[in-house]
Amino acid sequence: MREADVVVVGFGFAGGIAAIEAADAGAEVILLEKMRDPGGISVCSAGGIRVTRDARKALIYLEATNGGTTPTSVLKALADGMTEVGAYMKRLGDAVGAVVSEREADGNYPFEGYDVFGFSNVDEIPGVDLARAWPHVRGSPAGARMFKVVHDNVRMRSVEVHLDTPVRRLIRENDKVVGVETDRGPMRARRAVVLATGGFEADHEMQKQFWQLKPVLSAAVRCNTGDGIRMAQAVGASLWHMWHFHGCYGFRHSDPNYPFGIRLKRLPDWLPGKGARGDVRMAWIIVNRTGKRFMNEYHPYLQDTGHRPMDHYEPELQDYPNVPGYLIVDDEGRKLYPLGAPTYNDRNVSFAWSRDNLAEVDLGILKRANSVEEMAAQMKTNATVLARTLADWNRTCAAGRDPEFGRPPSSMIPIAKPPFFWGEVWPVVSNTQGGPAHDERQRVLDAFGEPIPGLYAAGELGSVFGHLYMSGSNLAECFIGGRIAGREAAKA
Ligand SMILES: Cc1cc2nc3c(=O)[nH]c(=O)nc-3n(C[C@H](O)[C@H](O)[C@H](O)COP(=O)(O)OP(=O)(O)OC[C@H]3O[C@@H](n4cnc5c(N)ncnc54)[C@H](O)[C@@H]3O)c2cc1C
Repeated sequence: MREADVVVVGFGFAGGIAAIEAADAGAEVILLEKMRDPGGISVCSAGGIRVTRDARKALIYLEATNGGTTPTSVLKALADGMTEVGAYMKRLGDAVGAVVSEREADGNYPFEGYDVFGFSNVDEIPGVDLARAWPHVRGSPAGARMFKVVHDNVRMRSVEVHLDTPVRRLIRENDKVVGVETDRGPMRARRAVVLATGGFEADHEMQKQFWQLKPVLSAAVRCNTGDGIRMAQAVGASLWHMWHFHGCYGFRHSDPNYPFGIRLKRLPDWLPGKGARGDVRMAWIIVNRTGKRFMNEYHPYLQDTGHRPMDHYEPELQDYPNVPGYLIVDDEGRKLYPLGAPTYNDRNVSFAWSRDNLAEVDLGILKRANSVEEMAAQMKTNATVLARTLADWNRTCAAGRDPEFGRPPSSMIPIAKPPFFWGEVWPVVSNTQGGPAHDERQRVLDAFGEPIPGLYAAGELGSVFGHLYMSGSNLAECFIGGRIAGREAAKA
């Protein structure tokens, strides 16, 4: 039987960092990845890690965003870690010749402490063309650069990596986790196992049990099917934050075999109270199946909460009237920018969105209509209601105020010039937050709050966020929680 001090399961950011830290602490490490290619969601991410210059104020902010769903000791470990993670990332970058920088950036909501944060990013890896090296990855180049830095740091250490090796079960002896069952046989952990298997973005059965809203399309990966959640449950883990996912509304491909939801063009986030940036135009509005608007289409942190207004069940209809929604632009809006931004880490997928959105009309993801009446007929919605919605919207734009839903005025543009273009939008999950609960040492806790001996978790598998999310914090958790889990596992 293969054996090491620490066995880490899952090779995204969290697993990679846990393996690096355990190895640096002197442990012999095996890192197991289900897929042929490592990277999980991490490699598709926007590559921003939350950092702070003030751990005390960061903790106040994190308490507010978590609405009492996470113990202070756990949030404190994250806040403290945010003061160091930028320098840590810089060290990893320096080791492989990458350029890493930090910049200031407010939190997403005006809670006390919102202004003590920033991001750490990998700006450049000279001489490396990741689009060519990893053609199966589509996302932000910054996320891919960051994963390359982690990947190269793993390779610089004597970590034994097994790709294409799904882990099926944890092995326990006398209540302690002592290894894992894999498709290539058992692997023993002399000290501990770290689960870093991501969430359940691609497990629709699990979603059905924990989420009211359905269906929800996965934005980027097929690999994260809640395996670590089930394995932890099987040894008695308590679960938290299962309801909470990071997502938005997005397109569904017209090819039924296309496995992912398609995220929308990412517009800059804005802080309530300060308003959106004056130069940002959102080309679209969204109506529901009755032809009416139902939300502010430009939430302050749209990629995080954009799906939430869709989660409205109407007992009179016995249905969700906002699913799917219909995104509408006119010909001017259609020319502004690509409306969709596909993301994936998958060898069997290849799809880029066109600059002028016309290829998507040919594909049937978007539809063209020469008049409002024609558009209503295509949507099978009431033409009078839809015409009134558009007329109201154009008046709202002229008045520069959206009293009904509070859309930032600077983002509003009329939808008046035919032809019109529209497409169905569905709830899309970028990543889940739920999973096994853990303490500040990343020890997985059982249903009574006791640590399960020999078992640690890191990354979005049991994220600390259980109320409102802060951008860049899933990566912060991967790096900070991954470091803690790796160090703790090495000395368990
Ligand atoms: C488009 C996009 C942009 C994002 N941008 C940001 C951002 O800028 N900042 C931020 O903080 N967050 C961002 N997020 C969220 C963030 O990327 C993820 O939460 C984070 O990368 C998760 O990392 P992880 O290591 O926990 O999981 P993953 O990176 O998903 O890795 C989990 C790995 O475990 C493997 N695995 C699963 N089951 C098994 C098994 N049974 N056996 C072995 N291996 C298994 C998977 O194959 C996978 O490789 C973004 C998400 C998306 C979709």
